Parts: sequence; C-alpha cells; structure tokens
Amino acid sequence: MDRVPSAMIHFLEENGGNEIYIMRDDLLPFSFGGNKVRKAILFFEQIDAGGYTVVVTYGSSSSNHCRVIANMAAARGIKTHVVSTDGGSSCINRQLVEGFGAQIHICPVEQVAATIDRMMDQLRQQGERPFFIPGGGHGNTGTAAYDLAYDRICDYAQQNHIGFDYIFFASGTGTTHAGLISGMLRRGEQAQKIVGISIARKNPYGGQVVAKSVLDYTGREAAEALLFVDDYICGGYGQYDASVERVIRRLYRQSGVPLDPIYTGKAYAGMEQYLDKHEITGKRILFIHTGGTPIFCDWVKL
Ligand SMILES: *Cc1c(COP(=O)(O)O)cnc(C)c1O
Repeated sequence: MDRVPSAMIHFLEENGGNEIYIMRDDLLPFSFGGNKVRKAILFFEQIDAGGYTVVVTYGSSSSNHCRVIANMAAARGIKTHVVSTDGGSSCINRQLVEGFGAQIHICPVEQVAATIDRMMDQLRQQGERPFFIPGGGHGNTGTAAYDLAYDRICDYAQQNHIGFDYIFFASGTGTTHAGLISGMLRRGEQAQKIVGISIARKNPYGGQVVAKSVLDYTGREAAEALLFVDDYICGGYGQYDASVERVIRRLYRQSGVPLDPIYTGKAYAGMEQYLDKHEITGKRILFIHTGGTPIFCDWVKL
C-alpha cells in the first residue's frame, strides 16, 4: 500500500441544490479501510523503523482504530494490547481485535492513563520494546496522515478541474480535522470551508482540541479556518436519532454506500441539517467517508 494512498472520489448525489461528492476512504485496501488506515500506515512506519516488538493502544469495543492496529500488528507477527473501558464483545470490531490475538485490558475510565503506564513498564521489564499508539491515532502522526491526504484531494480536484467549496466529515478525536486544516494552511488555500461534524464532543472543548492539534503540528493558529460543529451529537458517543437511520438506509439503497450510526451516518445527517440551517445551496461539497463498515454490519436495519 502507498504511504499516502490516493483519494478515491466520486459524485454521490444532488442534495438541497448542492453537488455532493464522496471520498471513499472506507475502501482503502486494508482491514475494511477507514481513516484509521491512513494513520496506522504512518504509525507502523515508526514501529518498523524502531524495531518495536509489541503495540499498546486504547479504544472501545466499537473502535475501528483498534481493529486496524491489531490487524496491522498481526500482519507483522506483533502482539497488540488494548486498554478499554468497555468489555462488550458483541461488536464486530471487538471480535476481530480478539481474533487477531490482541489482549484486552478492561479498567474504569479514571484508571486508563495509569493502566497504560503500568502495562508499558511491565512489557519493558519482560524485555519487550512496546510502542504506544494513542486512542484513535490522535497526535502529530495522525494529523500528518490527513495533512498528506489533503494533497490527494487537491490532486483529484486539479485533475478533474473542479473545486470543492466545503469538506464535511465525522470528527471524533479531531485528528482528521486537524490534518485537513493543516494541509489547507500549508497550501495557502483559504477558499474552502472544512467542517467537522462532531460525533461526541461539545464546544468549546472539541474545537479547542482541534486547534491545539493544528498548533502542535504546524506551529500555526487555525483561527477562522476551524469549524467544529457540535449541533448533531444526539446526546453523545454511540447515540443517534431517526434522521441518522434514515440517511443510512437511503444512501445504502440508493448508492450502495454503507454509512454507520456512530460516525459517518451521524456526520452525513448532520451535514444535511447544517446545509439546510445555513441555507447553503449551489455548492460543490466533498464528504469524506471515514470508514466504519463493520459498525454498519453491527447495525444493519434496512
Ligand atoms: C475514528 C473515526 C472517526 C473520527 O476520526 P478522528 O480523527 O478521531 O476525528 C470518524 N469516522 C470513523 C469511521 C472513525 O472510525
């Protein structure tokens, strides 16, 4: 796989007088794809270069990040340890993580940091070289993945002689969001609006995390480039309403594109409501499909 996979983009639908294009990162050719694949490629570059022997990360039972990391580690014969606050095993993602031989360590949320520290110490004492990957691939490495992906979006736009007025996507840890803004700042293209639809975090915290990630990575202020929208979180992580289910059904039936109720379906429904609320019409919009196909399969209610 390329270090920075190209952006597979196609026209999806007319929606409220806007042209919606979709970037199919869900079809990246590894472990059901998703934004965690772009991030994982860069993490494993460091793991391979540094001779690390075991991976420690963090995530819930529905975490796409944990699935991709456990798979990429298993491909190298490296073991993964997942620290998690939830022991549920009904999610396909958790079942796959366990299938790769990863060990799950359940602890209460307030003990996550201490549990990770203790595990890193224990593994070192056992003679291992453990590599820690933050939950969701948050941090400069994850940001870099979407800074670089931004170039691929520009490649597509140039080759097809089109420009996108807006980019929408599901924002969780804000890393994908920070990467895209960093790419835009680096290229000095300000015409575009990059809108993260939060799937859990509220402002001001959610937006502050994105701003800090941009600052850590680029040394620059995101300022007015930062649009972190928290109007469509439906009460928090993993919660969704009827509009989310409707949009998943509609798009799967109409276009064969699977969205999920935790991330992409929530973001697509949020995008529709945002466009409507701000009376945005006649624009060309890119929606980034950030993955999560196993969660679509957990949900399937067509
Ligand atoms: C993790 C994830 C996100 C959120 O990405 P962040 O970079 O953490 O904001 C969005 N969609 C899917 C499908 C994800 O797995």
